[in-house]
Amino acid sequence: MKKEKAGLYIHIPFCQSKCAYCNFYSITSVNLIPKFVAALVKEIKLSKGTFDSFDTIYIGGGTPSVLTCEQIAEIIAAINKFFKIDSKAEITLEVNPGDLSLGYLTSLRSLGINRLNIGVQSFDDKILRFLGRRHNANEARQSIRDARTAGFKNLGIDLIYSIHGQSINIWKKTLAKAISFKPEHLSCYQLTLETDTLLYKKYREEKIKEPSENLQRKFFYTTAEELEKAGYIHYEVSNFTRKNNFKSRHNIKYWRHSPYLGLGPAAHSFLDNRRWWNYASVKNYLEILAQGKMPVESEEFLTPDQLKLETLFLGLRTSEGIDLILYKKRFNVDLLIDKKNIIESLVNNQFVEVKNGHLRTTLAGMAVADSLALI
Ligand code: SF4
Repeated sequence: MKKEKAGLYIHIPFCQSKCAYCNFYSITSVNLIPKFVAALVKEIKLSKGTFDSFDTIYIGGGTPSVLTCEQIAEIIAAINKFFKIDSKAEITLEVNPGDLSLGYLTSLRSLGINRLNIGVQSFDDKILRFLGRRHNANEARQSIRDARTAGFKNLGIDLIYSIHGQSINIWKKTLAKAISFKPEHLSCYQLTLETDTLLYKKYREEKIKEPSENLQRKFFYTTAEELEKAGYIHYEVSNFTRKNNFKSRHNIKYWRHSPYLGLGPAAHSFLDNRRWWNYASVKNYLEILAQGKMPVESEEFLTPDQLKLETLFLGLRTSEGIDLILYKKRFNVDLLIDKKNIIESLVNNQFVEVKNGHLRTTLAGMAVADSLALI
């Protein structure tokens, strides 16, 4: 059997400022960026030979666009020097509209970045201020136009819904604006109030409210309806694409348990049943690489039961669902027999269906996807 190519994830742990809802690992000490880039290049060199080859690269964060083009060029040069990259690789960079100019985007394109993911979040200035984003709606619109002018033909836009003070109508306006740019990909995330964030603090102080479960559900269904009406394919709980070939090839690797290597602070890697991850702290990361060692904090080996559970959890988030033949080959068990009672009950409740050899989630199932895998 042909060996599956891996995905490469690079975590850039810097942001100019912290958004009010964010609990991702990132710091605002941007003065450390030059040291970080040097350490990352070292980590890339030390990782040579871990995986045969890669056909996706995803540079995420944090905010990769706080790096200069020269710094991004240095990282890409190291990747090409020490790793084997497929000539048709999908190469994504996450960017913040507040950082962009036509010149910067044109340089990114000439570095071989062929997919851009723009963190727009909303086209409503009031909502953007509430979320603590450092860009405004006008900058968001301009960054999309500039990305097209720079030659990006595969553009993704990230949006957030279910926000305190946001009505369904305000959300529909943001969706309509996003659709008007015809992005190849849209990720629409429901806001969750994570602990250790400014919004969570406001929530605890009863200064803001979380939308009711009913309203949250309404946001989800409105998103699916509006985007499907505009011709988008709903292929994962939060992800939509204009055409099948614009699905995020990198993210699909996570959902299918494909191998991936993660470099940079807090990045995770996966191969067969082993998962390992780097130190989250930039300070630790820099110190360990300065000693010429890999910055891996720990690892775990997943048992067959854990792998099965993850396969369900991840597969039921996608419209493709779980391929029953592949599942049997991999785990030597028939999923429909193994989990007969619960699958029957989910089918009766119209949360999942068995179709064309797949166990698939319906739209109603996607709306509650996080709890489906507890079967
Ligand atoms: S830009 Fe992204 S990673 Fe940085 S604080 Fe905001 S949401 Fe978090």
